[in-house]
Amino acid sequence: MRLTVINSGSSGNCYLLESSTGEILMVECGVRFQQVLQAVGFKVNKIVGCALTHNHKDHSKAVHEVLSSGIKVAASDGTLNAEGVRVHHNAVSFNSNRNMVCFGEFSIKAFDVNHDAAEPLGFLIRHKELGTMLFLTDTYYCQYTFPGLTNIMIEANYCEQILRDKVAAGVSPKFLRDRVIQSHMSLRTCKELLQANDLSKVNNIVLIHLSDSNSHAGRFEKEVQEMTGKKTYVAIPGLVIENFGSVPF
Ligand SMILES: [Zn+2]
Ligand SMILES: [Zn+2]
Repeated sequence: MRLTVINSGSSGNCYLLESSTGEILMVECGVRFQQVLQAVGFKVNKIVGCALTHNHKDHSKAVHEVLSSGIKVAASDGTLNAEGVRVHHNAVSFNSNRNMVCFGEFSIKAFDVNHDAAEPLGFLIRHKELGTMLFLTDTYYCQYTFPGLTNIMIEANYCEQILRDKVAAGVSPKFLRDRVIQSHMSLRTCKELLQANDLSKVNNIVLIHLSDSNSHAGRFEKEVQEMTGKKTYVAIPGLVIENFGSVPF
């Protein structure tokens, strides 16, 4: 399995998982569709579907083009309604029972997260080459733990100390800080969540959606890698992980 990061963070989110048979699952579509087309060599047919967490533009910007290109998009009813695509023939809904959605050989299970959007979701994505991957972003905490994870993509948006210092220095208004802490995941919460889960089978941890101004990529990566003992990456545009698999490389 190969993971490609097209973009991550408030300027846009889009991630591609490509299996050895060439099937591609898109996770999020918050970039220009042209960027996705370039990343897949204009082979739209390889994309078996797109899983979309919520209706903020940094995640959903290209949803109309994705759907009209014949790619199925799976999201909550709340997200599909907010985007005005609930009745589109390529829209697939995670119903209130959070049914499983299958795109090609990928299967996706959704769960609720805590964020200021219509009906935001997190995902457990399964594939025989991937194992079970947690995809968790745009949530200020997570009430669940997940058994049997092999790969993790998780938000590490900000560091409390950087935020505090900025408000104290008058660089950043307090209301902005309050919005961030009620909608995004801090490095500390991210680390607590990792510690609450069984990481024994985890091969890769990818930190996503870092804030441009309230994070420190190098330190976040180092702290999580040291705490977990797992190979840790910060998602930057163009990052490719070739062995994003179910067994350690
Ligand atoms: Zn976001
Ligand atoms: Zn959001």
